[in-house]
Amino acid sequence: MKIIEVAPFLLHVPVTGGGIADSTHEISHWGMPGCRIVTDSGLVGFGYTGTHAVASLDKLITSCISDVYAPLLLGEDPREVRSLHCKLLYDPPTHWVGRGGITQMAFSAVDIALWDIKAKAVGEPLWHLLGGSAGKSIEAYNTDCGWLNLSKGKLVDGCRRMIEEEGFSAVKMKVGKPDPKEDLERIEAVRSAIGSKVRLMVDANAKWDLPTAIQYGSRLADFDVTWFEEPLWHDDVRGHAKLAKAIDTPIALGELLYNRHQFLEFATAEAVHYLQPDASRCGGITGLWEIADLGLVHNIPVSPHHGDMMQAQLHAVIAHSGCEQLEFIPWTLHCFEEPVCVKDGRYRMPEQPGAGTTITPDCFEKYGISL
Ligand code: MG
Repeated sequence: MKIIEVAPFLLHVPVTGGGIADSTHEISHWGMPGCRIVTDSGLVGFGYTGTHAVASLDKLITSCISDVYAPLLLGEDPREVRSLHCKLLYDPPTHWVGRGGITQMAFSAVDIALWDIKAKAVGEPLWHLLGGSAGKSIEAYNTDCGWLNLSKGKLVDGCRRMIEEEGFSAVKMKVGKPDPKEDLERIEAVRSAIGSKVRLMVDANAKWDLPTAIQYGSRLADFDVTWFEEPLWHDDVRGHAKLAKAIDTPIALGELLYNRHQFLEFATAEAVHYLQPDASRCGGITGLWEIADLGLVHNIPVSPHHGDMMQAQLHAVIAHSGCEQLEFIPWTLHCFEEPVCVKDGRYRMPEQPGAGTTITPDCFEKYGISL
């Protein structure tokens, strides 16, 4: 089997309720720059990354796919994924211009498309190809009820509804209001509404500095918060290590780290308690797998970031013994031939061959941005 075409694409899909906000961003659409990898066998693999839908930036990612990676892929056997992963990582001069961000996101989209083809070629869902068991049950935790732009009333109602009506047993809410005391009031209101058995996570999206994170992070234990996510700037290993020593609530991070070496830095500095790699940024399924291995070695649970890559990540989470749960945000489910499905707070096992990333023609028609 040979690759005969690498065709980039770009989609901008509307998010819930017309727009959402966390402590650092407000967005109305989710960007999906990615590619279709076409083979001479007729099989087509789909892979993409996730952005805040800024077309000029997204097109840098699709250009990187078509100008840098596509020439290295044409004529290759897409089933040799790990070998191609190394070729794309070490051969092109991308490490001179960036080992994270645009180049790594383009690289991740390609890796995911290759795994999609490999699983389609054997007629199996990717989780089975990776050695996973149909008996493993994966918990979904819901973030889509916890945005910072929601009023306290809507936040509380939404979290309660996810528990009582949708069957979730864990929810995550954003913090980072101008006055952190308001964040504590919101956390208190949610905890009191959802009861003591439901797990509650809190995410600052790197908004706080170290003194704020110590002062207010130390209060999170009062509300039995499972983890404090991205309290500080993404690259600040020393700051997170200091915070981890200062507060009782475990720290989660990793959605904006781009490779296993960065995760290793945090793990060895004892600066993190939950690893949150995102396959659409950290080198695709191959990169996610390496980071999940690292979690196993360090006895740190791995709970991948959403990144709107539930589709492919679910397969890796099912198969890897270091992973037990996956974030759930349903913005783009309607874009896929086999959208992931959650019932009673648990992911249903995907059944179709591939990585679950096949996008429908209707979605391209509706949300496609010309390149
Ligand atoms: Mg987060």
